[in-house]
Amino acid sequence: MRIVVLAGGIGGARFLRGLKRAAPDADVTVIGNTGDDIHLFGLKVCPDLDTVMYTLGGGINEEQGWGRADETFHVKEELTAYGAGPSWFGLGDRDFATHIVRTQMIQAGYPLSAVTEALCDRWKPGVRLIPMTDDRVETHVAVTLDGERKAIHFQEYWVRLRASVPAEAIVPVGAEQAKPAPGVLEAIAEADVVLFPPSNPVVSIGTILAVPGIREAIADADVPVVGLSPIVGGAPVRGMADKVLAAVGVEATAAAVAEHYGSGLLDGWLVDTVDADAVERVEAAGIRCRAVPLMMTDAEAAAAMAREALALAEEVREA
Ligand code: GDP
Ligand code: CA
Repeated sequence: MRIVVLAGGIGGARFLRGLKRAAPDADVTVIGNTGDDIHLFGLKVCPDLDTVMYTLGGGINEEQGWGRADETFHVKEELTAYGAGPSWFGLGDRDFATHIVRTQMIQAGYPLSAVTEALCDRWKPGVRLIPMTDDRVETHVAVTLDGERKAIHFQEYWVRLRASVPAEAIVPVGAEQAKPAPGVLEAIAEADVVLFPPSNPVVSIGTILAVPGIREAIADADVPVVGLSPIVGGAPVRGMADKVLAAVGVEATAAAVAEHYGSGLLDGWLVDTVDADAVERVEAAGIRCRAVPLMMTDAEAAAAMAREALALAEEVREA
């Protein structure tokens, strides 16, 4: 079975770990979000690709959900001692090595997709991890700070400001000119199932879908598309997805997120059991919906969610 998953960081990565346990023989292609990428200290950092790679490769800091296990921060301390910022973005010593290798390869002329493949040679995530594009796309957030409206990098909004001011608009800068990375459209065309894990619908999956050709390929492919809600009981399970949903005029409920994707894209949608009353509304929007436990408390819970998603895809296929 060929499965394509569109993934952001933590929610995507933890779901993928469950999917691999639920379908060990499946051929899984992950299309990763690169809108969160940022240049720091001359290095190219790809937080979402790395979270997927480290999580599936066994190198993740489990409690935190991002960054390396067993990490130290000597380089960051030294940079701070020189007054070299930003200090709000946590880059550990082990993590730095990944960004150095990536940046060297990019400077030598390799596209990000080839670099990601090379990094995965070490981590062996057990999936094919492809960035959504080799072109530069950077998510910016329009905010008003000290009475002045400006656009800041997504990481500055998320990590430095912790989404403490309203997001007035979310703009994936460069997306319109970007092309899907090699292999992305082919993987979608050949897929038996496309899954949207419980990743951020706006700044993770929304950004991937903003690369021209990807949304259309998924909508046009004759393949079941099933998503899992990142919103449980009217709030994100972790993080601040409600802030970026508000920016695109979508309420933070499991049903509203399904409607935001729409029946043109989604065939099936899983909501948590606490949101069972949303099932009717989602089905009225033309999307097959089930209420099942959606908390990834451990890898087995994530595997059970993956099995439910694959079962719903099968139901869609047979309908
Ligand atoms: P990020 O790039 O690290 O922010 O990660 P993603 O975009 O992949 O995922 C973030 C989303 O995952 C957030 O909106 C969370 O609500 C959601 N999420 C995290 N853990 C869980 C979980 O256990 N269950 C569900 N349903 N959603 C989760
Ligand atoms: Ca992210």
